[in-house]
Amino acid sequence: MSIRALVCGAGGFIGAHLVKKLKQEGYWVRGVDLKYPEYYHSVADEFVLGDLRDPFFCSKVLNEKFDCIYQLAADMGGAGYIFTGDNDADLMTNSALINLNILSLVKQYGVGKIFYSSSACIYPEHNQLDPANPNCEESSAYPANPDSEYGWEKLFSERLYLSYAKNFGTNVRIARFHNVFGPEGTWTGGKEKAPAAICRKVAQASSGSSVEIWGDGLQTRSFLYIDECLEGVQRLMDNDFTGPVNIGSDEMVSINELAELVISISGKQLSLNNIPGPMGVRGRNSDNRLIKEKLKWAPSSMLAVGMEQTYKWVEAQVQKK
Ligand code: NAD
Repeated sequence: MSIRALVCGAGGFIGAHLVKKLKQEGYWVRGVDLKYPEYYHSVADEFVLGDLRDPFFCSKVLNEKFDCIYQLAADMGGAGYIFTGDNDADLMTNSALINLNILSLVKQYGVGKIFYSSSACIYPEHNQLDPANPNCEESSAYPANPDSEYGWEKLFSERLYLSYAKNFGTNVRIARFHNVFGPEGTWTGGKEKAPAAICRKVAQASSGSSVEIWGDGLQTRSFLYIDECLEGVQRLMDNDFTGPVNIGSDEMVSINELAELVISISGKQLSLNNIPGPMGVRGRNSDNRLIKEKLKWAPSSMLAVGMEQTYKWVEAQVQKK
């Protein structure tokens, strides 16, 4: 019999890729989301459209003991959505409601294992002031001081999942993703993140012009290619370690370096124009010591390889418009 999986957020970037991977591995999959995947037809056995903030809807889709649940649904977006402050109440309420609803049904029906996607955004701002030397070791999360309400909600929900594990024996796995990117992700509209946004700006620019980069571009980040993210998730699900654990690349670059990389992939002659804009913390990188220790594995693929795939895909979308 196939393993039965519920993927919440199956219409989103990571969820849609995860559904494809689970199907390739022979799972039976029910996907749930407010929307279908934007760029292709989902291969889920069942895809249910609806709002996971609604407990009644939740009880329709989470109505049995699934072998695995992947909880990826969240109200999220790039810096332009998370860091302006304009969406804070929505960000916190929407995602917290989803997690509260799902866990109360998991308590009722039980589950083999449930995966929760937390974020590098939970790490304290004061440990990420030096772009050359950020501290994102898992244990540095406390005393807590995330730089966004999105990060605070993730921290709350991590604790919620851990509380269910402690009080009701729920078999949880928690990962803190660090900037996942790849083809078939949001690339326009305001919720896109830096890799896709920069690919779009470069694809739209004509040679000799410039590309706008928010802030001084000296802020550092690492970016994880989608295939390695999913590999990490499955390895965590197959392991006894609960987490929270970072799933991210430790190839740290500045945003200006990321933009220069995309420009070189495009083959265009472009300059950078640093303009005021939301930036987030000064530095962030995945600390991969814990994942190596517990899973005997860590992401290793080069940023340039994933960016090349992503640029090609975004460029094709820009040309279609
Ligand atoms: P995404 O926005 O593409 O996917 C999230 C999905 O959740 C969307 O399709 C959205 O429609 C759905 N959703 C939101 N509210 C819902 C609701 N009320 N009912 C049903 N569905 C709802 O994001 P993603 O990049 O695929 O991220 C997946 C998860 O990983 C999220 O929880 C996110 O916070 C976390 N994460 C992602 C990254 C990253 O770099 N992509 C980094 C850290 C953490």
